[in-house]
Amino acid sequence: AEKVLQVKDLEVSFLTYAGEVKAVRGLSFDVEKGEAVAIVGESGSGKSVTSQSIMKLIPTPPGVYKNGEIIFEGKDLIKLSNKEMEEIRGSSIGMIFQDPMTSLNPTMTVGRQISEGLIKHHGMNKAEALKRSVEMLELVGIPNPELRVKQYPHEFSGGMRQRVMIAIALACSPKLLIADEPTTALDVTIQAQILDLMKDLQSKLDTSIIIITHDLGVVADIAQKVIVMYAGQVVEQGYLDDIFYNPQHPYTWGLLKSVPRLDSKGHRLDSIEGTPPDLLAPPSGCPFHPRCPFAMEICTKEFPEASIIGPGHKVHCWLQHPQASKEGTPLAVGGAKHES
Ligand code: SF4
Ligand code: MG
Repeated sequence: AEKVLQVKDLEVSFLTYAGEVKAVRGLSFDVEKGEAVAIVGESGSGKSVTSQSIMKLIPTPPGVYKNGEIIFEGKDLIKLSNKEMEEIRGSSIGMIFQDPMTSLNPTMTVGRQISEGLIKHHGMNKAEALKRSVEMLELVGIPNPELRVKQYPHEFSGGMRQRVMIAIALACSPKLLIADEPTTALDVTIQAQILDLMKDLQSKLDTSIIIITHDLGVVADIAQKVIVMYAGQVVEQGYLDDIFYNPQHPYTWGLLKSVPRLDSKGHRLDSIEGTPPDLLAPPSGCPFHPRCPFAMEICTKEFPEASIIGPGHKVHCWLQHPQASKEGTPLAVGGAKHES
């Protein structure tokens, strides 16, 4: 299948007075045409910085791209100028954020906001863009689009505003849609409707999606591939079934336990104990070791290389080391290096 996006060995840091914040380390993944890839983790796992890094929305400085490539339409986005990036963000990569109110302009009608990109990037005149705006509102399931197109964001409910965001993001027919916690601010029923809408549009328009979320329920609904991040590092990645039915990393096990039960909407089962790491001073070795019930001595010293579990399924955990016992018997520190 056609690869829409290839991220290779991405490493992004923030250079602050307090030191280097390693926000993203060793991230590699592909997004194929029409595919949805989820990046999952708790808040503080580095997943939002990851999406912002891909879009080049982090300020440089203090942000710095230390390593890697982000290949989109044959170009390495890291090497593009701000101006070239702006062009891409408005036309071939669309974005949806958690809170539409902070990203929508309260002083402009939604019609004008959808039209902007169409006029700027697709050479439409005002009338053509307005007509397309009405069609987009209809596509995202907003009733009375001819009337609604002339209204302002505050005249829409939270769920309807998120639909407007999706309409803006998709108006220019982007190849890739990046959605950062698109349903987090919405109530459960509306969440389900927005996810259904995204799935529907994904198949209708063949758009590829990167969805950033802390919620494995969302992942199960929409994604084909899953990347689990912790402290700015990928700890496990695989296809949806790998992550749900054959997870290999203790952090993934913890996330799966905190999937809301279907019978008690929004209620969370036991979540992972302890707090997410401080990216400024992440724990040594495997950053999950202070919270991991299986931590061994070597876990505090060295971050494990990737172990290949199956096609596309990789995990970084010392439990995969041939000499590790699943009961967590300590490995000899400095013992045989794991071959990946
Ligand atoms: Fe736990 Fe060690 Fe695996 Fe990290 S490497 S998840 S601390 S067992
Ligand atoms: Mg976030």
